[in-house]
Amino acid sequence: MTQAAAPYSDSPAASVLSSERKRVLVVDDQVTNIQLLNHILQPMVDVSMARDGLQAIALCAQVRPDLVLLDIIMPGIDGIEVCRRLKADPATRDIPVIFVTGRDTGEDEAEGLDAGAVDFITKPFRAPAVLARVRNHLLLKSQADLLRQMVFIDGLTGVFNRRRFDEALDVEWRRARRSGEPLALVMIDVDHFKLYNDAYGHQAGDDCLRQIAVAMRKCLRRPGDLLARYGGEEFVCLLPTTEIEGARKVADALGDAVEALALKAATAASHLRVTISRGIAATIVSDNDGCTALQQAADTALYQAKHSGRNCTAASDD
Ligand code: GH3
Ligand code: MG
Ligand code: MG
Repeated sequence: MTQAAAPYSDSPAASVLSSERKRVLVVDDQVTNIQLLNHILQPMVDVSMARDGLQAIALCAQVRPDLVLLDIIMPGIDGIEVCRRLKADPATRDIPVIFVTGRDTGEDEAEGLDAGAVDFITKPFRAPAVLARVRNHLLLKSQADLLRQMVFIDGLTGVFNRRRFDEALDVEWRRARRSGEPLALVMIDVDHFKLYNDAYGHQAGDDCLRQIAVAMRKCLRRPGDLLARYGGEEFVCLLPTTEIEGARKVADALGDAVEALALKAATAASHLRVTISRGIAATIVSDNDGCTALQQAADTALYQAKHSGRNCTAASDD
């Protein structure tokens, strides 16, 4: 039986659970409307503003607001089209859109909802109703974000799970293929972990895995770096735009961080402390099935690290 993830403050879920201030994007071609909504919303949320549809789409991709208040009638592309485009892009489709409009015929409402909006606010606004609707939809968005995150989190350790890793590897692989930049992997396996379980029990083994995961997560500094539990006592690090030497530094830092936990090992062979072996591989991405090849290379390297005495980093071409 595994236990529920401890609420580690640095786990991926923490960003959703935290009560940091939300951001609302207000889109309207009339400055007075923007100013009025800004005045109403500012005590509760941070407000970004756009004067036309294209600017709104660009800002959504850039600042990732938690909610968009969108005027329908604007010069250039109108609000309905802006909403459609936001919903068609995976990067922005989860941002809820509320239409703010002077038109309140049933047809407008149906067209707006069909385009993917969650609600309507009609002009002239009444501040308490605007605030209540914005608050409700922000709450729903937080809950949806949390659920989306939980699907990708390993229940035992609180780091990302294998599913998230597979998706991220696919995305990063494609990105690297387009840009020609390198992509690195670190495969990690806890040394002699069967002995640890046998000596201290499965519960203690679970606790050990949790501590190792938290310690390793703290080593990753770049926003694109990702640590996942690959399965059992194996973890994996995905390091975009990283060459083999960068991967070696990260892998060594992971090893040092785990050793620094000073968890008492079940075998004297590992310096009396729990340690990890690391296999690294990196590549300038160029062909189609290189994604699998990269994983195999990191796996082979991990095998070499085990055979070189464990608690070390090996590269596939070492
Ligand atoms: P090596 O240094 O060669 O990797 O030796 P090892 O003992 O770590 O390797 P092996 O693959 O033989 O054993 C892995 C052990 O990890 C076996 C299993 O009991 C333990 N393990 C896997 N998943 C979990 C888990 O979720 N919790 C606990 N407590 N133990 C686990
Ligand atoms: Mg193993
Ligand atoms: Mg092992």
